Amino acid sequence: MAKEERKGGAGSVENGSIPVLGTLVELRQIVRGWRSARETVALLPTMGALHEGHLALARLGKSRAHRLVTSIFVNPAQFAPHEDFDRYPRTIEADIEKLSKVGCDVVWAPDVAEMYPEGFATRVLPAGAAEGLESDFRPHFFGGVATVCCKLFSQVQPDLAVFGEKDYQQLCVIRQMVRDLNLPLEIVAGPTVREGDGLALSSRNRYLSPTERSIAPALNRAISKLAERVADARRTGPLTSRKLTDLCDTAKREVLGAGFAKIDYIAVRDAATLREPAPDSTGPLRILAAAWLGKTRLIDNVAVG
Ligand code: AMP
Repeated sequence: MAKEERKGGAGSVENGSIPVLGTLVELRQIVRGWRSARETVALLPTMGALHEGHLALARLGKSRAHRLVTSIFVNPAQFAPHEDFDRYPRTIEADIEKLSKVGCDVVWAPDVAEMYPEGFATRVLPAGAAEGLESDFRPHFFGGVATVCCKLFSQVQPDLAVFGEKDYQQLCVIRQMVRDLNLPLEIVAGPTVREGDGLALSSRNRYLSPTERSIAPALNRAISKLAERVADARRTGPLTSRKLTDLCDTAKREVLGAGFAKIDYIAVRDAATLREPAPDSTGPLRILAAAWLGKTRLIDNVAVG
């Protein structure tokens, strides 16, 4: 089977033991078979170019359900026209190979016409956790993510879906959508998988030049230090917004000093709502960050305490 055929609604393709499905009719048929055997189903939504972070989520999904469906779909609805949709890495053959080693049962790889057929006109518009941070810089993004995830949930009808903490705001947006729309599935989160030097694995890391790659871990270093400083500040008094701004400014100086070109945001937020924390809040906090290294935008986040 040629790569091009695989990409586009290829129908059922056997790769070793793992079927790669391109049409909803086939997907529904397989899932119906599992259901009638009383098997539970986990879904791992991805855009492909799989790395160990994705595979850890695949193992987590498989450990929590009898069956695992991994979707591979580079979703045009979450890219702005100037973003990297065309050059986003597409490595479907290697992806299938990796998935076949972690117990994935089916790869769901619809093409754009299968996902968004002629006349498609309905969108999910998330607010709440979707407001601010990424949305200030990528206003189209969470609408595209929520819409495609809502469709994937409806297509696969899984008992649970696994998402990475790596995209922490996305995880919060999906949790909120599932809650708000009473979608009948559980959202299970997996921790961020990192390189030895702290850089979060990402399909986009391959865009980094060797020099940029050596600078990249500075983002995680700075926000990890920020997390410690926020925890210390919290122990010694109220976390005023002035104090938080000062601490975030220090982290931004460290990131820029290490060689990053530009920072979109480094922020301290309530870990569940992603709102700015009240000075006397005692609930869990999260640090979220996005910054540019040359032409590559990296995001990362860590827990406080
Ligand atoms: P993507 O293919 O980039 O859309 O990511 C698919 C899923 O993998 C999302 O839930 C991501 O949060 C998750 N993911 C991506 N990178 C990592 C990582 N380094 N560690 C854990 N999960 C990740």
